[in-house]
Amino acid sequence: MKNLWIEDNLKQVKERIYAACQSAGRNPEEVKLLLATKTVAAEKINRAIDAGETLIGENKVQELQQKYSLIGNDKANWHFIGHLQTNKVKEVLKYVTCIHSVDRLKLGKKIHNYLSKENKKIDILVQINTSYEESKFGVSPEDALSLIEQLTELDTLRIKGLMTIGKLSADEREVRKCFRLLKSIQQQVIEQNYPGVEMGVLSMGMSGDLKVAIEEGATMIRVGTAIFGERMYPDSYYWNEQTTVSDS
Ligand SMILES: *Cc1c(COP(=O)(O)O)cnc(C)c1O
Repeated sequence: MKNLWIEDNLKQVKERIYAACQSAGRNPEEVKLLLATKTVAAEKINRAIDAGETLIGENKVQELQQKYSLIGNDKANWHFIGHLQTNKVKEVLKYVTCIHSVDRLKLGKKIHNYLSKENKKIDILVQINTSYEESKFGVSPEDALSLIEQLTELDTLRIKGLMTIGKLSADEREVRKCFRLLKSIQQQVIEQNYPGVEMGVLSMGMSGDLKVAIEEGATMIRVGTAIFGERMYPDSYYWNEQTTVSDS
């Protein structure tokens, strides 16, 4: 008998998205589901793809390379959602259609340098540290506007919106505050009318806080655990690498 848990979990996540949209008076079509697949084997990802999913988000270059070589891009659209070191940019650009984690000018410039040589463009989101936690990457809310303004000079970057990781807190108000802040920064950016900047995407919400994120305006949620189960590695391994601290 085939083990159906990935399919069942997906169905449950869809139901949670639907319920959150209902309670927020939103159209479920407005909320895209991106599978956060760090540590998840290609065969499991393929199960989700067979069930109709298309958006895959990876955090690490090596995992991205491995799984991309097994899954390809016929049915899957790969995004990069992890902290990106500038020396990994060239490799990442071979596989992904969107980078959620642009959080500093140096990184934007590096991406731009590679793409302008090849006459290509890419979708990006600007990652904001809405929880003000030291351990999280992302530009501070105070510096977001000036970073975005500087990124507009780099015409290979199609700025599509913002991304954040909400505070990992049992206090829902603390979590909601992060998502509200992202929404308010989105509004401020829209008011600036920067040329070429679109702000349609708000990438926020994960397994534990997707309901709150959807209520606060998420258009893309990134879900791992609720679909694929618990991971062996703590998230700090992905979110707070010692080796990347000097790469600012
Ligand atoms: C792991 C991860 C997620 C998904 O987290 P879950 O709690 O497993 O749903 C979302 N976004 C980013 C950036 C991640 O690294």
